[in-house]
Amino acid sequence: MSINIYGAGIAGLSLAASLSANRFENYKIFEKASEIRKSDTAVQLGFNSFKALKDLGIMELVKNKSIATNSLNIYSKNNFLKKTCIKGTLLIQRNDLIEILLSKIDTNKIVFNKKFSNEKTSKTDLNVDATGGRDGVDSGRIASWGVSNLTADNDKIFKELNLFMFPGMHLVTYPLIANQLSWTYIRKSNTKKNNNIVKDILSPNNDDNFDALINKSMKLQYKNKCNYLNDNKKVLEIGDAAHQFLPHLAQGATQSLIDGVFISEYLIKNKFDENINNQKFSDFARRRLQLLNKISFQSRINAEVFQIENKIISDIRDFVIRFNTPSYNWLFNSYYEA
Ligand SMILES: Cc1cc2nc3c(=O)[nH]c(=O)nc-3n(C[C@H](O)[C@H](O)[C@H](O)COP(=O)(O)OP(=O)(O)OC[C@H]3O[C@@H](n4cnc5c(N)ncnc54)[C@H](O)[C@@H]3O)c2cc1C
Repeated sequence: MSINIYGAGIAGLSLAASLSANRFENYKIFEKASEIRKSDTAVQLGFNSFKALKDLGIMELVKNKSIATNSLNIYSKNNFLKKTCIKGTLLIQRNDLIEILLSKIDTNKIVFNKKFSNEKTSKTDLNVDATGGRDGVDSGRIASWGVSNLTADNDKIFKELNLFMFPGMHLVTYPLIANQLSWTYIRKSNTKKNNNIVKDILSPNNDDNFDALINKSMKLQYKNKCNYLNDNKKVLEIGDAAHQFLPHLAQGATQSLIDGVFISEYLIKNKFDENINNQKFSDFARRRLQLLNKISFQSRINAEVFQIENKIISDIRDFVIRFNTPSYNWLFNSYYEA
């Protein structure tokens, strides 16, 4: 069997690294860009990614490039509400994670400038679509993000993971190694008022650079129903292609990483049988899909809760958060499945 992986993002590289770790080398990665995409963004890797990181043999490498945290500070507008416990999360630059995955594969296997096309996939090989999210449901929200340098006089709140909730928008900030700060700003619409609130919190050193990042916003979409097999059941979709979530539970990268290990487990179990058996695969993936659908649903709920516009309802939310924090044990203890 030979495997064609389309897309050299977190999901595609995780699958490649997992195949190599299991001494299966008959695969190639096809990437539409002319080089590995660099992006000025960072990701949170949840506790549930740790088993996959260990299986991939990259746990220590990732830890060395991450800041670890066990807590999240929640703010309603600028008012501190609560410090909540979250089970071990790693905060890492996306580029560093990609570099670590690349160190586990033979990079000569990556073919650049080669675009995936559903119609042209060969029948005998297994084709894996890891080309990221597209054609999802429009969430009516846009996102901007950036990584900036922290200066010595930056407030110590930026040394922790923070969530600031405002009517119609929210901001997440977290520290990275090398004294850097990652921020993600998500809103329903682009208003000067919201932009200024974010500016006030972040107090960027360079206003022009900050304005450029805000103007580079991206529409957020989500998949209504997560699924690994495409409509004609011939192509395996993984990562955001299979389960694009809203970022309000910070699970996209984690689940894309896990997919690589999960899919290679299926292939090993079935001795790399050439024809993926749809029924067998569906049985294998059923419980994992339940988990992915639950994450997708919870992310959409969080999107509403973080950005409540009605004053009375947001006061009730704040009261509830102060005295009761939802436990995400179902997620952080989940590893691969529900
Ligand atoms: C604002 C924001 C904040 C986020 N924050 C977090 C977070 O804190 N924690 C977290 O876990 N996740 C987060 N995510 C989600 C996370 O970034 C994604 O879930 C993850 O990057 C998906 O990986 P992927 O490999 O599936 O897709 P991608 O990273 O999109 O990679 C797809 C690759 O495929 C290539 N490609 C595209 N089309 C083709 C084609 N036709 N042929 C060949 N190659 C192609 C692309 O060039 C790219 O290299 C966030 C997302 C957003 C938008």
